[in-house]
Amino acid sequence: MSEQTEKEIIKSSILGKVLFSSSDIKDRISELGKEITQDYKYKNLLLVSILRGGVIFLSDLIKEIDLPLSIDFMSISAYGINGTSTGVVRITKDLDESIEGKDVLIVEDIIDTGLTISYLLRNLKSRFPNSLEICTLLDRDIRRIADINIKYIGFKIGEKYIVGYGLDYKQKFRNLQSIYELKLDTVKKDIEFLKSEQL
Ligand code: 5GP
Repeated sequence: MSEQTEKEIIKSSILGKVLFSSSDIKDRISELGKEITQDYKYKNLLLVSILRGGVIFLSDLIKEIDLPLSIDFMSISAYGINGTSTGVVRITKDLDESIEGKDVLIVEDIIDTGLTISYLLRNLKSRFPNSLEICTLLDRDIRRIADINIKYIGFKIGEKYIVGYGLDYKQKFRNLQSIYELKLDTVKKDIEFLKSEQL
């Protein structure tokens, strides 16, 4: 998307301020890529991305990892009660490859309550990977319910609902190059519902 189009959307009153600019994101991903390159030398690295939001992050991250690696994708839908994540998850597209003996790194856009990822961890652990870790671009730990250990975190964030760089609002804004806050007064009622719906 051109800078001009992006500016027009911001003016549309749904988007608030930029939380992380495209250059903040680029710089942080480059650091994460270096750390992962260091940690996974001589390992059998497989990055697993959860459709759809995590794909943009995955595609930039792998270009910063200087190692042989493979990628695979999973799609899930989460069931919510009154709009909150419950961790009850259905796999709608499973991985194409076996992960047995592999060093699996789950690549997520954002971890909020952690209930969704903790279901995934249980599920993937039962398939005998050699190791299983998480890399998330964004970590909203103030709402965390599940006790999970995240090995790589891009940025920690607060309460505000965010969009851009893979993250959507009603399936839109995934193609923004920066990450924006939503104007809460415009969208308040939708937000909890969306969190449970959009996976
Ligand atoms: P949880 O960790 O609560 O199980 O759910 C995480 C999922 O909720 C994310 O993968 C994402 O789809 C959605 N989510 C949570 N917070 C936000 C947010 O601020 N913006 C967007 N667009 N999605 C969010």
